[in-house]
Formats: sequence, structure tokens, C-alpha cells
Amino acid sequence: MASNLTPAIYARLCDKATPNGWTLDQCIQTGVDNPGHPFIKTVGIVAGDEETYEVFADLFDPVIQERHNGYNPRTMKHVTDLDCTKIKFGQFDERYVLSSRVRTGRSIRGLSLPPACTRAERREVEKVAVDALSGLTGDLAGRYYRLSEMTESEQQQLIDVSQRSSRAAPRLLSAAVIHVDGHWPISRSISWHNHQKTFLIWINEEDHTRVISMEKGGNMKRVFERFCRGLKEVERLIQERGWEFMWNERLGYILTCPSNLGTGLRAGVHIKLPLLSKDSRFPKILENLRLQKRGTGGVDTAAKGGVFDISNLDRLGKSEVELVQLVIDGVNYLIDCERRLEKGQDIRIPSPLPQFRH
Ligand code: ADP
Ligand code: MG
Repeated sequence: MASNLTPAIYARLCDKATPNGWTLDQCIQTGVDNPGHPFIKTVGIVAGDEETYEVFADLFDPVIQERHNGYNPRTMKHVTDLDCTKIKFGQFDERYVLSSRVRTGRSIRGLSLPPACTRAERREVEKVAVDALSGLTGDLAGRYYRLSEMTESEQQQLIDVSQRSSRAAPRLLSAAVIHVDGHWPISRSISWHNHQKTFLIWINEEDHTRVISMEKGGNMKRVFERFCRGLKEVERLIQERGWEFMWNERLGYILTCPSNLGTGLRAGVHIKLPLLSKDSRFPKILENLRLQKRGTGGVDTAAKGGVFDISNLDRLGKSEVELVQLVIDGVNYLIDCERRLEKGQDIRIPSPLPQFRH
């Protein structure tokens, strides 16, 4: 936001509002309050509703283009592909990969996004989602764990299960995503999850819904298979009840943060790279593979003991299948580097993946 918001753009947009009354100042508040981030480059701007991306396009478009490797949201079209049979080499060496995860978000059309969501809308999101999820069957069947109905220790147990961050990041506070107007924890859920705890849904967190498939070990192909199946099923159940997800062909699925537009997909592993992570070429290798590193306790944590969360950096302009394949190939490249360093051999910085041409 800071690198794209010029005085001229501010002057042009500052008196505008979406039909729900969401303004430019509300979009940028989080970036104004929280310049920079210790570990990743954040975008510093959020949407309050689906219309935000149109009304404030003069600012959002360049931010989106910079964040998603040159994707031009005015001229390009985004594609969806949830055919998991296309994935190749989806089993990682488990001496390095400890766990695998794929997540996305989905927003319910017609309701404000979390930064602008009223208490009544939040209850509606919860109702729509929980009602739909009750229709899941087989290995996907599970139940909803409502935050407001739990004791502190039950909450903590679920935080451990669902791996959801327990504290409010300042970034999210400023975006008014959490703890706003004192109605935490009403209609918030640590999660809905299936009985095996491998398919999880967060409700009313940073997005209306976050859909997550995860398990221990390195079977990314299986994680993605469950993700695709579960997600299609959730969408069908929501549509059956007369609702739909926010989507358009230029931006794909619409979410709160522009970094999550398109697929909303973050496919990642927890991976041990003690040697490579100390090598000065590590950041450049990640950059060229379009991968992002985080600490294993979530985006606001530092990495410990050479174990990282490595995932795709971009979410827009490439399909789900393409992004998961990019992560699989990239992570296998990192493992190969780590093995070479173990044997005292040299490693190479791969050539950069091409940018979108606009
Ligand atoms: P996001 O908002 O993209 O879902 P965060 O970085 O905030 O991600 O992480 C959310 C939670 O998911 C954290 O508690 C983190 O430990 C957990 N997590 C992320 N990736 C993995 C993984 N590959 N294996 C196990 N847990 C993971
Ligand atoms: Mg997050």
C-alpha cells in the first residue's frame, strides 16, 4: 500500500465509499498503523466488502499486480482447477518434511467481509457455514466447536488441535478483523473439524471461512485430494442453501486481504533445512521459486531450529493445481539442495520463474 498510494490516488479516492459505506481510510488503516512486518512483506490494505475491489481499484490494482508476480487484474483472467489427479511427485521425503497443509478462504456473497462485518452478519456467516458443514459425510464428517461455549482450557485444547493462532496480531486488530467492538467471541469459532482432525474450517476469522486440509508427514498429494473433495462439497452444500461465494473472473475468489485473491490457496510444508537455511543463497532460491518462508507457529513467528513453513507466495493467475505443483517441485528442489550440502557438494540458484506479462 505504502509503495503504491500516491497523493493523487488518495485525493481521487478519499471521499468515495462502497454501497455499505466502507472507505479508503478504513482500507489502509492496518498498513498505516503497522508499517512493515518482521518476517514477510505484508500488503497493508484490506477490503470491507466485495465492492471494495471495484470502488478503490486505482489503489488495489497496482497492489495486486505487485503482490502477485505482475498479474494485471484489469486485463487478465484467473482460472480455477481442482483436478487433483494432475499432481505429480506429491510424496515428500519425510526425513525433511514433517507435515503438509493446503488452505484457502471463501467469502459469502452479500455479507460484509470481516473488517466491516456487523454482529448480525457474523451470526449469519456462522449459521450459513455451520448449517452447510453439517451435510458433510464419510471421512469429511465432523462438528463445530463454538468459542463462546467453551472454557479457557477447552479453548486452549482446540487451539492446539486446529493450530490456530491464539493471539490477535496488531495487523489484524488494525484491520478491525478481530476483537473489534468487543464482540469477540460471538460467532467466532476456533474451528469446525472432522473426526480425524485432517479437514478443518475456521469461521469468522480473517475471512468468512478458511478451509484447511492437513496431516503429519509428507503426503501432499493426499492432502490436496482431500482439500479438493472437501472444498467442492462445501461449495455445493452452501449453494444448495441459496448462497454463493464471492468470485469474478478477473480476481478469482474474493477475500479480505488482496494477498489471498484468486485461488486463496496456500500450500505449505513444515520442513527441516538446517544447512540450506544457513546458506546465504537461501533467500534468493526461495524468491526465484516463488516460495515464501514463515516460522512454524504461523506468519507472525520466527523460525526455530532450522524448521520452516515453506509455501507458495502467489495465489492469483495460476490455478490450484499449478500452485500445488509449484510447491511440490520447489520443495523437492530445496530437499535436493539440503542433501547436496550434507554431502559437501555445491548448490545452484535456479533461474527465476517468469513473471506474468501484461
Ligand atoms: P494462514 O493464515 O496462511 O493459514 P499462518 O501462517 O497464520 O497461516 O498459520 C496458521 C497456523 O497453521 C499456524 O498455527 C501454523 O503453525 C499452522 N501451519 C501452517 N502450515 C502448517 C504445516 N505445513 N503443518 C502444520 N501446521 C501448519
Ligand atoms: Mg493468516
